[in-house]
Amino acid sequence: MTMNERPATPADPDARDVRSPRPTPYPLRPTIPDEMDAWVVARPGPISSGPLEPVRLPVPAPGPGEVLVEVEACGVCRTDLHLAEGDLPPRRPRTVPGHEVVGRMAAAAPGSVRFAPGNRVGVAWLRSTCGHCRYCRRGAENLCPFSTYTGWDADGGYAEYLVVPEEYAYPLPEEAPAEKLAPLLCAGIIGYRALLRCDLPPGGRLGIYGFGGSAHLTAQVAIAQGATVHVYTRSAGARELARTLGAASAGNDTDAPPGSLDAAILFAPVGELVPVALAALDRGGTLAIAGIHLSDVPPLNYQRHLFQERTLRSVTANTRADGRAFLDLTSAHPPRVTTKPYPFAAADQALDDLAAGRFEGAAVLIGRREAPA
Ligand SMILES: [Zn+2]
Ligand SMILES: [Zn+2]
Repeated sequence: MTMNERPATPADPDARDVRSPRPTPYPLRPTIPDEMDAWVVARPGPISSGPLEPVRLPVPAPGPGEVLVEVEACGVCRTDLHLAEGDLPPRRPRTVPGHEVVGRMAAAAPGSVRFAPGNRVGVAWLRSTCGHCRYCRRGAENLCPFSTYTGWDADGGYAEYLVVPEEYAYPLPEEAPAEKLAPLLCAGIIGYRALLRCDLPPGGRLGIYGFGGSAHLTAQVAIAQGATVHVYTRSAGARELARTLGAASAGNDTDAPPGSLDAAILFAPVGELVPVALAALDRGGTLAIAGIHLSDVPPLNYQRHLFQERTLRSVTANTRADGRAFLDLTSAHPPRVTTKPYPFAAADQALDDLAAGRFEGAAVLIGRREAPA
């Protein structure tokens, strides 16, 4: 699948950000320190109770097949909020969250050969899979029961350094600002998989419910591929952003679309919107639920919500092939990435603002060595 030749928003200065050259190559620290600053999920609970705690941790050493990555920037994903608040139960105590990491390979274990020191790498949600189970063997590694996740099973990017298996890291372009690349690594990749999962026909009508970090990237991919996109969100600011990015309409989350939809993606973690979106689908339409967590779905009415071969699907993580395909697409045709930068020391504020919906687009923590834009 390729995006057409038209840049998403040619007049927008942000669209050029991702191609403007950096004045100098990124200088790695001459020596790797013994300790680093990091944030951990100390007490999962409501964000107002302060579940994150700033700590000093030893800089991790890469194990076999792993590389050490010095963090330039780390995106703040809604999954981090679910982990902090305990919607997703911790898999190990006091884990560093963060799985939209843009960084530089700083050191490798003996035998790790994929990246050279200083190479720019991306670390995403999927951290490892078994490679042997029936799902891995049939190309569905996102369903591997033995998969592990960055920032859940292992420490993530709310830190100065992290380690990652090199086979699960992505090469990233040198030129783009880290802040604009970070949201691509989860928000972008998962949204792209959701777009594949909703089976939107060429030139079709796509409904997008909820319009945050992931949705604003997915909408641009769909529009560039010729779709007509209708956006539904409670946030007036997000509706404005949707129109700016080329949505045909942007309404409140329970508004009826101007006509029936060929496909829809639910990004808001709100189960009450499942029947709303299903009722808006045309015959044969598909609703894909993009999130890892959803509040309870109310009872469905078979005639109104499912009959006429409407389909309801979930989206579970992504494969590395999804990640590579999406990152290739965006390096050929950079999307406009709307970001809200936070200093590394304000990770707790970023999550609080995400919970309260205080910004549009995607929040990004800027590493210690890069000042917020
Ligand atoms: Zn497996
Ligand atoms: Zn995520």
